[in-house]
Amino acid sequence: MGGEQTMSHGEFKHFKMTVLHDGILLAGFDYLGKSVNVLNVESMAEWEGIVRLAIHNADIRGLVLVSLKEGNFCAGADLEEMHHAQKGRSFQQMEQLVASTHALFDVIQRSAKPFVAAVEGVCVGGGLEMVLACHARIASTHPKTCFALPEVKLGILPGFGGTQRLPRLIGLPAALNMITTGKTIFPRQALRMGLVDGMVASVPATVKTLESVQKETFVQAAIMQARVQGPTGRRPALSLIQRIVGLPGMRSLVCRYAKRQVIKRVRQFYPAPLRAIDAVEKGMSVSILDGSLNIEQPLLIALMASEVSAHLVGLFLAGEEVKRTIPSGSMSATRVGVLGAGLMGSQIAGQLAEKGYAVGLRDVSHAILATAIGRIQKDQTAQVRKRLILPSELRYRMMRIAPTIHINDVSAASLVIEAVSEKLDVKRAVLAEFETVARPEAIFATNTSSYTLADIAVKAVHADRCVGLHFFNPVARMQLVEVVRAPFTSDTALVQACGLAKRLGKFPLVVQDGPGFLVNRILSRYLAEAVIMVAEGRSIQRIDAIAKNFGMAVDSGHPMGPLELLDLIGLPVAMHVLTSLAALGPRIESRDALLRNFLPEKKPPLTFWSSGKENARALEAASNYRRAYPSDDAPISDEILHQRLFLPMVDEAVRCLHDGIVEHPWQVDFALTYGIGFPAFRGGLLTWARQTMTPGQIARELDALAAKYGKRFEPCPGLSDGGW
Ligand code: NAD
Repeated sequence: MGGEQTMSHGEFKHFKMTVLHDGILLAGFDYLGKSVNVLNVESMAEWEGIVRLAIHNADIRGLVLVSLKEGNFCAGADLEEMHHAQKGRSFQQMEQLVASTHALFDVIQRSAKPFVAAVEGVCVGGGLEMVLACHARIASTHPKTCFALPEVKLGILPGFGGTQRLPRLIGLPAALNMITTGKTIFPRQALRMGLVDGMVASVPATVKTLESVQKETFVQAAIMQARVQGPTGRRPALSLIQRIVGLPGMRSLVCRYAKRQVIKRVRQFYPAPLRAIDAVEKGMSVSILDGSLNIEQPLLIALMASEVSAHLVGLFLAGEEVKRTIPSGSMSATRVGVLGAGLMGSQIAGQLAEKGYAVGLRDVSHAILATAIGRIQKDQTAQVRKRLILPSELRYRMMRIAPTIHINDVSAASLVIEAVSEKLDVKRAVLAEFETVARPEAIFATNTSSYTLADIAVKAVHADRCVGLHFFNPVARMQLVEVVRAPFTSDTALVQACGLAKRLGKFPLVVQDGPGFLVNRILSRYLAEAVIMVAEGRSIQRIDAIAKNFGMAVDSGHPMGPLELLDLIGLPVAMHVLTSLAALGPRIESRDALLRNFLPEKKPPLTFWSSGKENARALEAASNYRRAYPSDDAPISDEILHQRLFLPMVDEAVRCLHDGIVEHPWQVDFALTYGIGFPAFRGGLLTWARQTMTPGQIARELDALAAKYGKRFEPCPGLSDGGW
């Protein structure tokens, strides 16, 4: 491909351009000063300049858009700009940006010259809408390539014409599914559903220049497509069925069904998916431009101005801050050991293998290891079934895991994650045993849920290499990992632990050592109170309903109350955690005598729920307890039950801040949202508390609860002064 001329356009900060010998303009998006490409006033103005240049320059026959960022095509709209607008309650600039984007995308779509996007890496939100406006899309098979319209997760809807173009491209049901769930689509699926026109293998490159990307086959394919792509607006035809469901009568049925699905999943808490369905439905009877400007845009701006969206964007940016501020250093671990192949160890090993680590998985018997390998294989096979990965990739992943009963077999690991049974002596013994075989620099990371790192490492020879890596269950789904630092933990250990969690795609939140760290410490107040309510004879159904009506775990798609959560965690583990956290003081009251009734000898523990109903045996166990330990069972309002569940969490969060477990309230909000499913639309535990009551009111309510129900509710000193 000789004879290209690279255009020097000093005015473009965020794009580079070259014109190939046959008149195809290759535009490389490379947002200056950010690791990902974003769309904001500045970059959109430049894109507009390039589009107009391509259209008006007679020597240019077409345009191919690529990204020069490794692993990222475009992350969409600049959320900091949007959050700024939300905080200042001023949306004029956003409105102008949206309106001019609609006009620009319309120009592209109507252009007689072909615009083709060659997509490698993450292409989401406005980034996907940008390529939807092009005439064709070629995806590379780079492992990071994926597509999504995740706007509803930020409380808004796709606002650069996505609600108008997507249904016309891939059909109504598939578009509604993508838009209302924000789910991620990988290249293979994208090709099948017609989101992209081609999928081409690529060799991931870390340094990208216009010269180097031209040589990549997926870009060559896009250039070829631009050469042959005839005049404007050619779209792959929808199938007959897709066209039928798009007809007006069917359309309203399909949209009504989609709304029912949304309400089933997230109740009425989130308006964005419902408004997005409105935008799709109404937009289909007008032109794309008309629908974008007159239907989608007003709905977008109204949603952007909502409190829910401000909360969701705030939490999203908190996640970015967590990633941005993790201690940095060189990340060397490629070989990782996992000690303990139970529920957590097997999931962690699966995640590590998925991300390319060589894993030594150690447990005490071959039978346990066989079960663990079976479990990992089952989880991973689900990805093959969903056609997210090829069977060959599954084989590679499984081959990376080496099960063993010998500690020597993990001696080559530069980091081990300890996930053995929650028993202090076992954990200490495992650490001592590892130290006898470990490499000189090897890091020991414990996944304990209730002991402190100091307890576990008390006899460690190299305590500086001990750190906590507290994953949440289910590991693949829960994005938070608490990285626990004790005073003796070295910077290197912290860097290695954070780096590993980040490579697993998690948010590594650094917390200081202490019983229950941050999340379980706060959670234990909520769970303990729910158990006390059962002990008083309150209905299991009612307790869980109060939490679910508040939105607990609604973001996971499975709203869940505290007693359902206890069933999920498993009573023996939960009891163990509550008992260990009694170290915090009398405010953690564990009703052991009640819970013992739930642990019949030589039988599986009772659960609060059984087949979707209150478990009759659990109710019987609770009434046996009440006969032995009568308590005040006077009627009580839902409001008081609600306060009893949630205000102690606020109190404990403030105590964590005072104890320096984390520094900032936003870290508490972030951790509880991503760790236990505190409803994101409320902005997190402390944001919710502050918006609902003044600190003085919270302290007074807690005092009133303490007077009636016991000292465990007494607010911590400093809560009422609001310095949190
Ligand atoms: P588990 O009982 O399912 O698994 C523990 C495994 O450790 C068992 O397979 C056991 O055979 C093995 N083991 C015991 N001694 C060993 C030794 N000396 N060497 C190697 N393996 C040994 O427990 P789990 O639920 O997977 O929990 C593991 C750890 O993770 C615990 O510290 C727990 O507190 C923590 N954790 C659990 C959850 C959860 O939801 N279950 C969540 C976060 C953290």
